[in-house]
Amino acid sequence: LLSARGLHKSFGDNHVLRGVDLDIAPGTVHALIGPSGSGKTTVLRSLNGLESPEAGTLRIGDLELDLSKPRSRRERAALHRASAMVFQQHHLFPHLSVLGNVTIGPIRVQGRDRDEVVADALALLDRVGLREKADAFPSSLSGGQQQRVGIVRALALQPSMLLFDEPTSSLDPELVGEVLAVMTELAGEGWTMAVVTHELGFAREVADEVSFFDEGVVVERGSPDQVFGDPREERTRRFLQRLQ
Ligand code: ATP
Repeated sequence: LLSARGLHKSFGDNHVLRGVDLDIAPGTVHALIGPSGSGKTTVLRSLNGLESPEAGTLRIGDLELDLSKPRSRRERAALHRASAMVFQQHHLFPHLSVLGNVTIGPIRVQGRDRDEVVADALALLDRVGLREKADAFPSSLSGGQQQRVGIVRALALQPSMLLFDEPTSSLDPELVGEVLAVMTELAGEGWTMAVVTHELGFAREVADEVSFFDEGVVVERGSPDQVFGDPREERTRRFLQRLQ
């Protein structure tokens, strides 16, 4: 479905991505793990077009993008269809209701029929147990509920895949489970997902593949059993030991 090759990105003198390759196969969950600052979020944002690397290519289906070049309208549209992002901080609009937050993208940006979008949004909210909160404002919801709305907002865009950027790391510990439960359910339904996460238990149980990042490169990639159970690289081993 998606492969990125040779991603390089600097912020000033900080060379954050130093040649990252990443493949995400259809219907799989790919977990991106590694120390803080290793470049995981920057990779995810590059896949979604939110970041412009100095070098790198992205293949989505039969479209190949040179990420260092300005994007054509057709390429931007393809990037938007390919993936939708769930952010660490949910970034909901405070002045819009839950339903307004979920429907604004499909209606305003995608130009879809309002009635159809609203019907789809209500069905999605129902699936995550938030149908009765459709008219509530984000500030009246718990952090976990807000993040579930963030997930529904991404789903409402009908992307080919979902990108999760540490979706639980700003939540109180008791609210983490409800968000991971929704993500586990989506994985079970066959959604293609890339997940930057510090929840290694989730990565081990739910991911099909794990990439371990350190200092702007993928140091090791494999099945969760291999990466967590029998890491090939010393750097991976040290990272996992520190967390035990
Ligand atoms: P974390 O787990 O802490 O989120 P990460 O592996 O996702 O870490 P990134 O968020 O990709 O790492 O950040 C990699 C580096 O790039 C960090 O040193 C960060 O400070 C820097 N960085 C990221 N975004 C920007 C930006 N917009 N401007 C300047 N520096 C940035």
